[in-house]
Amino acid sequence: MCNHYPDCPAADASDCFAAHVVSDHLHDQGWCRLCNGIVLFDDGHYLTPDGLDQVVVPLSA
Ligand SMILES: [Zn+2]
Repeated sequence: MCNHYPDCPAADASDCFAAHVVSDHLHDQGWCRLCNGIVLFDDGHYLTPDGLDQVVVPLSA
């Protein structure tokens, strides 16, 4: 599905949230959809196409 170069990371890659944004609603709705199907939220969480809720940057001191 990806026609970017270089290819966007897969949805199950550790850097999956680095894929290109294809649908940007960060400013009006607080989320954006990435090329690989990831939905990235402005609170640091993202949802994989499998529906898993992941954290981009783990909260730590
Ligand atoms: Zn892509």
